[in-house]
Amino acid sequence: MSSGQMKIIIGWLYPQLMSTYGDRGNVITIQRRAQWRGYNVSILPLDQNSTPDDLKSVDVIVGGGAQDRQQEIVMRDLQGAKADAMREKIENGTPGVFTCGSPQLLGHYYEPALGQRIEGLGILDLVSIHPGENTKRCIGNLVIEVTASRLAQELQAMTGTKPYLVGFENHGGRTKLGKVEALGRVVYGLGNNGEDGTEGAFYQNAIATYSHGPLLPKNPFVADWLIQTALRLKYQQEIQLSPLNDTLAMQGREAMFKRLKVALPVVGKI
Ligand code: GLN
Repeated sequence: MSSGQMKIIIGWLYPQLMSTYGDRGNVITIQRRAQWRGYNVSILPLDQNSTPDDLKSVDVIVGGGAQDRQQEIVMRDLQGAKADAMREKIENGTPGVFTCGSPQLLGHYYEPALGQRIEGLGILDLVSIHPGENTKRCIGNLVIEVTASRLAQELQAMTGTKPYLVGFENHGGRTKLGKVEALGRVVYGLGNNGEDGTEGAFYQNAIATYSHGPLLPKNPFVADWLIQTALRLKYQQEIQLSPLNDTLAMQGREAMFKRLKVALPVVGKI
């Protein structure tokens, strides 16, 4: 099957409510990088007007950040058959990237600064608590080394070097992981809670992170991993993505590493 005969459907969680800090850039990055290789792409908003079958139909899921208030509205909608569909997708290995407020909702619960605990979907074994309005938010540039073992291996196979992700965090909530694997270890910034050095989570093929940026334009190889994983799962065949010219993105990363004085162990293709 050639790329022109294949199609990726990007499911975009609550675009009107969960798109802070330019997180829609993650959707655009997946879309464009797939289209540049000749794949067909459509974007399906998954929101209050969607059905569980809409959720089941997508090949990759993108969820962005949100304010506490919006998270509450989303969780009122993401219940019952919709919640089950979401759970099924992630358990079955549908790849996804979930930023900031989204992972808080995929965990067991999120306690906002004000108001009641928001129950999450419990797909990721983690909890998030906002310590209160007088506590400093975690804001600033973020660099992590991906340590989730399978993802780290697969990214390293794609890029030829250890995977480091560059981003920007802005969150009040602090996340504590249960048994779920961390996405990475913090090299610069605060990550999940500013205490234990972990950042994000990785479960099945779901990437959860506090990293905005948005994440994917700054780390395009992660977008390629999502595309490749989605296509392999859908078409059950080996997929090799053709290379793209990422010179500008790579220069941007190097500028950030330099500015933050992050010394990478291997200076290579990333
Ligand atoms: N409401 C969450 C927090 O402040 C998420 C913020 C976000 O998504 N940027 O922790």
